[in-house]
Amino acid sequence: MAYGGRFGGRRDFGPREMHKATCSDCGKECEVPFKPTEGRPIYCRECFQKHRTERRGPPRY
Ligand SMILES: [Zn+2]
Repeated sequence: MAYGGRFGGRRDFGPREMHKATCSDCGKECEVPFKPTEGRPIYCRECFQKHRTERRGPPRY
């Protein structure tokens, strides 16, 4: 069984479903590639980067 169907594979690539959300930080409307979870802060791209680097502990370079 070499050819398991041309359309049977999981599509991990390609366009992602985007969900509209409001950034919990700056309040800007943004789109996230995942389903916004209630009770969880959603960050826009900029704020996400910001929070990502705002990690606890000393920065490691
Ligand atoms: Zn933001």
